[in-house]
Amino acid sequence: MQSAQGEKLEVLVSAKDIASRVQNLGKRITLDYQNKPLIMIGILKGSFIFLADLIRAVDLPISVDFMSVSSYGTSTKSSGVVRIIKDLDHSIEGHHILVVEDIVDTGLTLNYIYGHVKSRGALSVKICSLLDKPERRQVAVPLHYKGFEIPDEFVVGYGLDVDERYRNLPDVCKVVRTNG
Ligand code: 5GP
Repeated sequence: MQSAQGEKLEVLVSAKDIASRVQNLGKRITLDYQNKPLIMIGILKGSFIFLADLIRAVDLPISVDFMSVSSYGTSTKSSGVVRIIKDLDHSIEGHHILVVEDIVDTGLTLNYIYGHVKSRGALSVKICSLLDKPERRQVAVPLHYKGFEIPDEFVVGYGLDVDERYRNLPDVCKVVRTNG
């Protein structure tokens, strides 16, 4: 895909590797949640492609819900102060919850979401993130299912954006600034 002027894209995790990891995660989730009522909660917008692929790799009668949060700060740096833009549509009481996130960076956003969802009376709450940047962590969050650990680089693609661009890239790419 063509990059914007002044930016170059370098593939960090290929679509092929993502597809195979998603199948693997789906199989594990299928085994772990046998006979358990499961709701998978996508955190908008970044997780929408990952969630769409992951739920089709899970062979269970699951439900899906979404939350949208906004983290005060710049587009590339989160502040830890989180505001809920869209809360869950349905009660989660009596269900097991799997929160599906695109990337864990400082951990501040997911730490807030985890606490929020746990306070709603679910039978259990676990987290699945496609990407993890462990070097950047400020708050420990339990990552029960993880796609890939990546270095401290700002990435786009497979749902992740920079100023709403590049979400439709099939690979996860690093954005390199050029002078062009
Ligand atoms: P945290 O609260 O863990 O610092 O940040 C989590 C959120 O920041 C992610 O859900 C994502 O929206 C955004 N984020 C963190 N790192 C990246 C990155 O490398 N690329 C993009 N596009 N978003 C990121």
